[in-house]
Amino acid sequence: MKILIIAEHKNGQLSETTRELFGLLLGQAEVHAVAAGENLEPLAGPLGQLGAAKVHLIGSPALASYTGESLGQALGQFIPQLAPVAVLAAHTPQGKDLAPRLAAALDAALATDCIQVSFNDGQVTVRRPVYAGKATAEVEFTDDSLKVITVRPRTVKAPELDAARSAEVIPVAVELPEQKTVLKEIIASDNARPDVTEAAIIVTGGRSLGSAENFSVIENFADSIGAAVGSSRAAVDAGYRPYRDQVGQTGKVVSPQVYIACGVSGAIQHLAGMRTSKYIVAINTDPEAPIFQVADYGIVGDLFEVVPLLAEAAKNRNGS
Ligand SMILES: Cc1cc2nc3c(=O)[nH]c(=O)nc-3n(C[C@H](O)[C@H](O)[C@H](O)COP(=O)(O)OP(=O)(O)OC[C@H]3O[C@@H](n4cnc5c(N)ncnc54)[C@H](O)[C@@H]3O)c2cc1C
Repeated sequence: MKILIIAEHKNGQLSETTRELFGLLLGQAEVHAVAAGENLEPLAGPLGQLGAAKVHLIGSPALASYTGESLGQALGQFIPQLAPVAVLAAHTPQGKDLAPRLAAALDAALATDCIQVSFNDGQVTVRRPVYAGKATAEVEFTDDSLKVITVRPRTVKAPELDAARSAEVIPVAVELPEQKTVLKEIIASDNARPDVTEAAIIVTGGRSLGSAENFSVIENFADSIGAAVGSSRAAVDAGYRPYRDQVGQTGKVVSPQVYIACGVSGAIQHLAGMRTSKYIVAINTDPEAPIFQVADYGIVGDLFEVVPLLAEAAKNRNGS
């Protein structure tokens, strides 16, 4: 059974979310990976060491920066030639944009934001959260058409690189038609902290912070433990944080090792974005706050007292 992993990369480095895809139990599958863009050769080594038997490189200046249109067309030409059983992409902004385009173009079945993928005897089954994460659905594919699957970041641990492994590298040529969209400029964010979708630890603040300035309490704590800063929608709507930090149904879906919710009530729409976190810690003055129902550890208290103490303890522990 052939499985194709779409590799995301930046500045010559594979993204962590791509590495994680190799951590799915791919069983007896013949694992292929595809990367597109320019100067792709450095990616072949790690892709092979992660477990790809063959690495397909679509080198083209037109694919140097991601647009759904260009990469969709390139992969739309390449995938039928390879004819895999399933295509795996991470459920990142790129994966979310690309997967439906591919499924539509290739008349494939689509399952997005999966938290489990099983390959057994040629059968592919996935599990994905539904009803804002209150339940999970097992999805079976009913025919043998191509399956396009996106996997929620941090669902699986990336395997260690195995230096003894290497992949066959296969250059792929595609012909791209004139594009309807052109990427003119990428304006990098000035945020030095990790993005919430990539961080292993997230410290999130809610409406209770009361102002943008007060979020420094959350930022100090986050910096003391190398965490990203998240926000509830109420705090974003109040102008305390930028939208990019919003976690939840209409924000980002995250699944970190540790999620620390400070002064966040735990509304269903917020839980939809973080309830698959491995450990949830809640700090809230209200012992009845719904967030405590999903929390592994809870502190009933004022965040303005508790959070600085945690930051101080973390700094003492780090010796800084
Ligand atoms: C269609 C739709 C989509 C939505 N999408 C999202 C989404 O993506 N993400 C999201 O977050 N919300 C979303 N919401 C909004 C959601 O319903 C809640 O309104 C929001 O999550 C509440 O944010 P909050 O917990 O910060 O504020 P609140 O609900 O006001 O809660 C504040 C909490 O802080 C506690 N508190 C107060 N003072 C302190 C203190 N000093 N120390 C400790 N605790 C304190 C309070 O006890 C309370 O529990 C959506 C709503 C709708 C209708």
